[in-house]
Amino acid sequence: IFNLTRHNSDNCSFVSSLFVQEKQYVGFATLPNQVHRKSVKKGFDFTLMVAGESGMGKSTLVNSLFLTDLYKDRKLLNAEERINQTVEIIKHTVDIEEKGVKLKLTIVDTPGFGDAVNNNECWKPITDYIDQQFEQYFRDESGLNRKNIQDNRVHCCLYFIPPFGHGLRPVDVEFMKALHEKVNIIPLIAKADCLTPNEIKKLKDRIREEIDKFGIKVYQFPECDSDEDEEFKQLDKELKECTPFAVIGSNTVVEARGQRVRGRLYPWGIVEVENQSHCDFVKLRNMLIRSHMHDLKDVTCDVHYENYRAQCIQEMTSKLAQDNRMESPIPILPLSTPDVETEKLIKMKDEEVWRIIFRRPQYFYAELPSSNAWNKKL
Ligand code: GDP
Repeated sequence: IFNLTRHNSDNCSFVSSLFVQEKQYVGFATLPNQVHRKSVKKGFDFTLMVAGESGMGKSTLVNSLFLTDLYKDRKLLNAEERINQTVEIIKHTVDIEEKGVKLKLTIVDTPGFGDAVNNNECWKPITDYIDQQFEQYFRDESGLNRKNIQDNRVHCCLYFIPPFGHGLRPVDVEFMKALHEKVNIIPLIAKADCLTPNEIKKLKDRIREEIDKFGIKVYQFPECDSDEDEEFKQLDKELKECTPFAVIGSNTVVEARGQRVRGRLYPWGIVEVENQSHCDFVKLRNMLIRSHMHDLKDVTCDVHYENYRAQCIQEMTSKLAQDNRMESPIPILPLSTPDVETEKLIKMKDEEVWRIIFRRPQYFYAELPSSNAWNKKL
């Protein structure tokens, strides 16, 4: 190229056209394809928790959402058995594939929640479960083999509110407040076919007011970008306006208007699960699976897990400060006499933790200890 750029107009035009050509296609435009290929090969995972009293239609809705029978082996308890039942956590995992894209779906069910005579602190096993998953992830992430971490963090919790009341019950408020800083909560009005459209509207307004009044932080849909097209903006607006979603589930296919549809057959007519004038099932499914699944995972990772991790690091550092052992590396994992190589790695991790602490002070609520070691690190 340098030889060609001598004062020769032909050569100059050749060079510039060469540059134009080169400028047109370098190849980094394939980056999204590369990411796409890699992600598809790796597969996706998503963990969805469902909570609400038994009989609210949780399993029916999950089966309707993913068109799989996730509750084949479920054993229903009678009233006597339920008196002594505590809240259990049951995981159902299924690998589903659609057009070559694999999704490992985990449903975390919480049978027994809200079923006891005394529901005091019945959300505790659920918050403990969510924390345990964060703890496991934190340990794995701080360990030496970070490549194959299995992510069991709960990305979303569908909370079923009964359609029969006049808004939220105390147990609903307590549950959501106990969980809202740990998981993305999406409140649902269960069995919406029990209500007329007018009653649904009233109940939705009431629930929204109470969510505000009690300072409950449910999952917030991300703001729509200003350069999105009008149709997308309209859909986004409708989605935000229709929360809490009023849903209907069904595992049976019935005939309506000459078509086979998923619905519920009553003596007075058919309620169609996927008919948008009957309920918000389609909006919920589109949001959960087609448009916001990735955002739910991002918020879990960037907000809920980050808060957990920051708290952990803070507790660890203040404990170390108290014990006057600030000179030694932070023992992220209980390691038995490490070899030289491991020692080096631990030191690197240790430095990383310190860097995180000082880069993100907003996550640290308590005052930093002012020992000599901290000053030295600073
Ligand atoms: P779960 O205990 O919360 O998992 O509830 P199930 O899914 O087992 O449902 C309990 C009962 O409610 C079953 O008889 C279902 O057929 C029925 N059911 C489920 N979804 C709906 C719904 O949307 N509307 C009505 N009316 N009944 C429903």
